Amino acid sequence: MADSFTLEVVTPTHLIARETASEAQIPVLGGYIGVLPGHTALLAEMGIGELTYRAGNQTQACTAIGGFVEVLADRVIVLADAAERAEDIDVPRAQSARDRAQKRLANPNDPNVDWERVQRALARAEIRLQVAGKSRGAPAAASAAHATSRS
Ligand code: ATP
Repeated sequence: MADSFTLEVVTPTHLIARETASEAQIPVLGGYIGVLPGHTALLAEMGIGELTYRAGNQTQACTAIGGFVEVLADRVIVLADAAERAEDIDVPRAQSARDRAQKRLANPNDPNVDWERVQRALARAEIRLQVAGKSRGAPAAASAAHATSRS
């Protein structure tokens, strides 16, 4: 059996990664799936989380937000609604998004708040801060490593 697979992470507008990987952790609805070469074929809906993969002797990470993933024995294709490499994350923008979401969540009686939407916005912001924080050597700015509902 091959000891690697091709990993592609694409969004509607960008190619985020095309790499030869030996393993990957992919956020899907309800959790993460671990992928090794020769994995059983599957199709899954993406969650909101940190996608990590091993390429050569390096572990790489990016955000992955919504969309679908197709896993084949020698190829993994992530079609994400949004995804960013750590170095492309605009940290102040993510902080503002997190602050906006937290303010909305702080008003539980506000009838105008769409709670699911705010929670997804918060999860997106937190995962962006987490991925950016790791790459910049700072403490993780958020702890939301869980895959949650899609964006
Ligand atoms: P915001 O409220 O700041 O727009 P959002 O969570 O609503 O954040 P999305 O709808 O998830 O944004 O993404 C829209 C587009 O903007 C996507 O292409 C995404 O990659 C990009 N994007 C969103 N936030 C950031 C960020 N902090 N850094 C880099 N790109 C971002």
